[in-house]
Amino acid sequence: MASIANVIHDLTLEQKAGLVSGEDFWYTKAVKDAALPRMMLTDGPSGLRKQSEDADALGLGQSVPAVSFPVSALTACTFDRQALFELGRNLGVAAHANNVGVLLGPGVNIKRNPLAGRNFEYFSEDPYLAGELGAQYVKGVQSENVGVSVKHFAANNRENQRFTNSANMDQRTLREIYLTAFERIVKQAQPASVMCAYNKINGITSSENKYLLTDILRDEWNFSGVVLSDWGAVSDHVAALKAGLDLEMPGKGDLSTNEIVTAVRSGALDEATLDRAVNRILTMIMTYLPENSAADYYDKDQQHQFARKLASESMVLLKNDHAILPLKPKEKVLLVGELAQKPRFQGGGSSHVAPYKVTTLTMAARQIDNAVTYLPGYHLVDDQVDAKLEKAVLEAAKDADKIVVVVGLPEQMESEGFDKTRNTLPMNQNHLLDTLIAQGLDVIVVLQNGAPIAMPWVNRVSAILETYLAGEAVGEATFDVLTGKVNPSGKLAETFPIRLQDTPNYLTFDRNADDENYREGIFVGYRYYDTKHVAALFPFGYGLSYTTFIYQNLAVKVGVDTVTVSFTIKNSGEVAGQEVAQIYVSNQTSPIEKPAKELKQFIKVSLEPGQQKAVSVELDRRAFSWFNERTNHFQVDNGHYEIIVAASSVEPRLRKTIQLTWAPQPAAPLTENTYLSTLLARDDGADLLKQSGLNTIVDQLTKAGNNQALFDNMPLRALIMMGAKQEQLKQLFKLARA
Ligand code: BGC
Repeated sequence: MASIANVIHDLTLEQKAGLVSGEDFWYTKAVKDAALPRMMLTDGPSGLRKQSEDADALGLGQSVPAVSFPVSALTACTFDRQALFELGRNLGVAAHANNVGVLLGPGVNIKRNPLAGRNFEYFSEDPYLAGELGAQYVKGVQSENVGVSVKHFAANNRENQRFTNSANMDQRTLREIYLTAFERIVKQAQPASVMCAYNKINGITSSENKYLLTDILRDEWNFSGVVLSDWGAVSDHVAALKAGLDLEMPGKGDLSTNEIVTAVRSGALDEATLDRAVNRILTMIMTYLPENSAADYYDKDQQHQFARKLASESMVLLKNDHAILPLKPKEKVLLVGELAQKPRFQGGGSSHVAPYKVTTLTMAARQIDNAVTYLPGYHLVDDQVDAKLEKAVLEAAKDADKIVVVVGLPEQMESEGFDKTRNTLPMNQNHLLDTLIAQGLDVIVVLQNGAPIAMPWVNRVSAILETYLAGEAVGEATFDVLTGKVNPSGKLAETFPIRLQDTPNYLTFDRNADDENYREGIFVGYRYYDTKHVAALFPFGYGLSYTTFIYQNLAVKVGVDTVTVSFTIKNSGEVAGQEVAQIYVSNQTSPIEKPAKELKQFIKVSLEPGQQKAVSVELDRRAFSWFNERTNHFQVDNGHYEIIVAASSVEPRLRKTIQLTWAPQPAAPLTENTYLSTLLARDDGADLLKQSGLNTIVDQLTKAGNNQALFDNMPLRALIMMGAKQEQLKQLFKLARA
């Protein structure tokens, strides 16, 4: 086959201009004369949403049946790289079997506020976790020769006014929090494409943002794939191409082609820029075009089983007083809540799939070794209390050993396209719980929700299992955990606040139609709660098990440019289980604002009862660095860092302080504004003072029993006030420069 350069050479301007926008909602354009086929791109992160020809972007139209996997909000709780690779692989198989070349996902934006409408579709409030899991997902999909489009690049953290709103933040926040997950994925997994977001960043539309799409993505991170637009995100096509966008989706038909042709003819757009985009698009098509597989044949039952396993290994046990769970064999169970029969198992919007087969909780209840009675308890259609339904539950409770109540957010309250205004359960669901608790009943709560909710009854119920939106195997997976068939091992990938008022951006989130001002800066999620000592309802990284674990034998070895952290974990309980160990770094050195600690590694370990394993993880330079806006680089400083091995962000198990001497740190030049303490901390500080004759004054000041902190805060120019001569200072600077 002819090289892509030759193909491009033979294309007319009109043909090339046509190729940089989609043919329709889901296809790139074909060029028949040049025998260039079209290729399908389709959603989405948690299942294949291949729509029929009369499709739409909002998920309203029907798509082919495909297995609905748990949403990213839940899969992130596995903290399991291998599981995310497997998820990606399964999605790749489904996409390939449906002749889809590029899957539109994963979404790796940071969860900044519990009200953000698309939280369910994103992994975490932590960029390291989102980046690591996202990279494995991408590798998994692409291992099946299907490309991905990692989305939404970047800072796409709210739904209200999502087409026009500007995410405004400082560079350090952008780099450390909002770009890190993308960076890790691009560097580790070479995704076929990146989807630019709708929103602006610091006033510049993402699709026209050269700094983002070219300077950072390509020049710094060496991304070589296609940048495509979110659906309808392009407003100025020519400006977007110049900034580094390649493919406008879904395209505006002839209008899209004509605007490019006119721009090239008038000289407003360099033809080489167009050729560059065409080259990237054709390269992507040539790499990922499926070879017309037998339509839709793959083992969906096996994928359903995987969805079940993934969901059960991700669910988070938040509370389990007196080991009320797992349910014991033969116990009589009263299963309450309409969500048990009509589960909420996936998000609304572009990630919505037509599930292959949904197992509800009521269906799954028939497969277990317990007698289960189901009662609705409340209606999902509205939030009105139905006293009759509640009364029936109270009656039936008399005859039950255990009461499981399924509550959650109905789909109309939580979807792509809008943010929530509250995070409370519908009134009738809370009322039902209160009614049962008031009768002194022990209640086991199962939650189905896409993002953190308020739990006014948290201290009055006996157990809480967070299942998020668990995919089509929701019923089986939930009972696997409730019965102990699967020992829960998920840990929260986001903080659950006690009140919305406690969230880091409560004062600003969604308050301004034009500008979303990220005034909390780098203090997102646990970086805020831990540093400010704000108590959480359930903290980041938290989750219970039916067994217990002991952490021991921490050893930390500082190498040339890595730090190796080794320790042992022992299962000290009665049943097999898995533990997620989290490794946080606390920077005690750099003279900047810092979170109390940041997640820099994690590892999931499987252990039989009584078994102990030695584990070891590596921290690279980046784990110790911060983004310096002045130099535009990630910087590591020499000094002390604490390594914290923890069971959650608030449960440190082992800790050790290390000293890094990695950075060749040229001493900052001395100026009149250098602080005396900085000069005295230099190896040559005392010498310089002596040679310039300033030692007498400084000695007098520091010896007279004066408060040392006073001098720490005194710049050199203040010495004049204390009797030093201008000449002496000049001499000091001259000597320091020599
Ligand atoms: C969403 C994307 C999605 C696209 C295509 C947009 O509205 O923001 O995430 O991939 O539609 O469905």
